[in-house]
Amino acid sequence: MSSFKKGGMFILSSPSGAGKTTLVKKISKNKNFLISVSHTTRLPRPNEVNGKDYHFITKNNFKKLIKKEKFLEHAKVFNNYYGSSKEIIIEKLEKGKNVIFDIDWQGTRQIKNKRLNYNLLTIFILPPSKKELLKRLIKREKKNIKTVQKRMKYFKKDLLKWREYDYVIINDDLQRCYKKIMKVIKSKNNIIFDRSFITKHVKKLLN
Ligand code: ADP
Ligand code: 5GP
Repeated sequence: MSSFKKGGMFILSSPSGAGKTTLVKKISKNKNFLISVSHTTRLPRPNEVNGKDYHFITKNNFKKLIKKEKFLEHAKVFNNYYGSSKEIIIEKLEKGKNVIFDIDWQGTRQIKNKRLNYNLLTIFILPPSKKELLKRLIKREKKNIKTVQKRMKYFKKDLLKWREYDYVIINDDLQRCYKKIMKVIKSKNNIIFDRSFITKHVKKLLN
């Protein structure tokens, strides 16, 4: 038997632009929390660094990695492929590190279905309003309206997956949201969220 404790898996998902990448980066500043750096076929944004934000690869190379079963999960999101690298993740978890994932609901489903022998906590992040989400997307995409529109097109479909997650948090004030996430992570699944409040908030977002 292993002499050290295994790490846990923490997944953050949300409609695009709600702030999960920002939150995942903040969480990774804590000792023992490492980000799972995904592979993707999408083009890098101007501020993104290969190997740090993503491993940016071609569609051909992505397909080769799928064939070699290198991914713990992978999915097509907004017409690009994204995947989490199995070997690296398992190695970190076995060393007792906590791994944080910024992945969509399709990848989350795949990881849940695998029923791996590591603790798993899934968190869904909601924007405070649709208007604020749009503002955040426009800011991040540097007014690239086509990309913003494509992501907003999936907003409803993505939003409706909130029920599949262990915990749901609204990212209004960044610091407040981050603190809530850390509280949930440290509680080891012992905190429950106000489901009726979240249901009402989701209804507002859908209007
Ligand atoms: P996601 O990964 O969910 O698509 P990002 O983390 O890329 O979203 O955030 C989208 C944009 O919103 C970024 O420009 C980020 O700096 C900004 N942002 C994230 N959280 C907040 C917040 N609480 N308040 C204001 N802006 C935020
Ligand atoms: P972005 O292009 O904004 O970085 O990410 C787009 C979407 O892809 C987000 O919902 C993000 O969580 C998701 N994503 C990023 N990496 C992965 C991954 O490895 N697997 C899956 N399934 N989704 C990912």
